[in-house]
Amino acid sequence: MDVIIIGGGIVGTLIARQLSFYSLRILLLEKESDIAMGATKANSGIVHAGYDPLPNTNKAKTNVRGNKLYPELCSQLKVPFKRNGAFVLAFNDEEIKILEELKERGRINGVLGLEIISKEELLKREPNINPEVKRALYVPNSGITSPYLLAISALENAWENGVEVHLEEEVQGVIKEKGGYIVKTNKNSYFTKYIINCAGINGDEIIKMAGIDFSFEITPRKGEYFVLDKKMGNLVSSTIFPTPTPLGKGILVIPTVEGNILLGPNAQNINDKEDKTTTHEGLKEVWEKATKLVPNIPFSSVINTFAGIRASSNYKDFLIEEFNSHKGILNILGIDSPGLTSAPALAEIAEEWLREKEKLIPKKEAKKEREKTLYFRELTNEEREELIKRNPKWGHIVCRCEHVSEMEIIEFIRHPLTPKTLEALRKRLRVGTGRCHGAFCTPHILKILSKELGKPMNSFTLKGGNSKILFGENKVRWKNEKGS
Ligand SMILES: Cc1cc2nc3c(=O)[nH]c(=O)nc-3n(C[C@H](O)[C@H](O)[C@H](O)COP(=O)(O)OP(=O)(O)OC[C@H]3O[C@@H](n4cnc5c(N)ncnc54)[C@H](O)[C@@H]3O)c2cc1C
Repeated sequence: MDVIIIGGGIVGTLIARQLSFYSLRILLLEKESDIAMGATKANSGIVHAGYDPLPNTNKAKTNVRGNKLYPELCSQLKVPFKRNGAFVLAFNDEEIKILEELKERGRINGVLGLEIISKEELLKREPNINPEVKRALYVPNSGITSPYLLAISALENAWENGVEVHLEEEVQGVIKEKGGYIVKTNKNSYFTKYIINCAGINGDEIIKMAGIDFSFEITPRKGEYFVLDKKMGNLVSSTIFPTPTPLGKGILVIPTVEGNILLGPNAQNINDKEDKTTTHEGLKEVWEKATKLVPNIPFSSVINTFAGIRASSNYKDFLIEEFNSHKGILNILGIDSPGLTSAPALAEIAEEWLREKEKLIPKKEAKKEREKTLYFRELTNEEREELIKRNPKWGHIVCRCEHVSEMEIIEFIRHPLTPKTLEALRKRLRVGTGRCHGAFCTPHILKILSKELGKPMNSFTLKGGNSKILFGENKVRWKNEKGS
């Protein structure tokens, strides 16, 4: 291999795409059953403007550059992106001072259009905000996207351009060799000239594995969320922030590109990198702080909760480093917020790093554009009728909450890069993410998977490994227990 990319989050997938435009042999290794299973799966989906990071840091530079790259990137990859703007609210004089500081920091970072507006102006634009607010910083360049659809689309694009992708393949060893490295996984060994370590929360372990002598520790920092039903979609149209604290940007009210509202995230340092549980205490904090920004949210509008884990590090900034002792390994780590926003800029940095080492020859046949995916819920009635005439399965709605048809599910199952798990279909199609949360459609999806792939329904998992969904048939169990 020329390049091995460790980690299929937003950073690894966008780097894979960026390098796929050149004649290079590239392999992306991801330990989970699908890509976008780490921080990229569970975050706020905000494309931050860049007023928050301290000037001249990697965070500030890549945030502002990444924000600029988003519209074209999402248009090429046919992923939703909306510049919905944001407001940072101040409820007292001290917080108004912080707004001034943020505006000035934004100016230094190169963020355009920041403006401090009055309470009256704010309430005209966002009438559901707490009327006790005093002022707000208006941030026109803030946007929202679908983080996992972007990662999936970027990697599918890279794969079309020839990048190899191995899922469920965990890097367990990195050994220095003449002219490169041996990468050992749970399945295989590969020789590669270059490694890009973007293994998120486990990136510090890869550094240790490679024998790099650098004191770098990642501390998992959990963030919990509520998801509100789409009927609350008009609660706010912009992203609503409190004034930030040294611990982070605070608990927000966030519209999503799918039309839901998220409340969250809190920020809690934890010990276990795998602990994605939500807690009573954490969610209580989220609810109290979010409803201070936007009061009167009915609790009955909550349809789900989830948690994501930030890869916060002792380095404080994003670590973008090739160590002298280990030339040929680029580490892009400690990518906590605003990593989703910065990822397109981090991909450019990885390309430039490689260009200094290798002559990058553009691949003539490489594509930057993807074809738009047909989502039944987005089609006009005429377009739907046309598809149903071709195949009646287009008209058979399996997920009633999100209006997903049987034929859409079949097409995704048939895609060679789609893992055959329930969660992989959820991320790509939104099946089972609506109000009923899969209560109605899960058995139907399992039946479709079983029919398409010729395997029993109970062989399919939620997200690979031991995450079984069905364990047997009720009547068979009952008969066995009764001994008849
Ligand atoms: C609660 C929360 C809210 C956030 N909100 C925002 C936001 O609104 N806007 C924003 O810009 N940023 C936000 N972020 C930050 C953003 O989500 C992350 O910076 C970004 O997703 C990091 O991407 P990544 O590719 O570095 O890591 P990840 O997405 O974690 O990907 C790393 C991948 O590496 C794989 N891996 C690990 N070890 C190995 C191994 N040994 N072998 C093979 N594969 C391996 C993992 O399975 C994982 O898939 C938020 C983060 C969190 C947690």
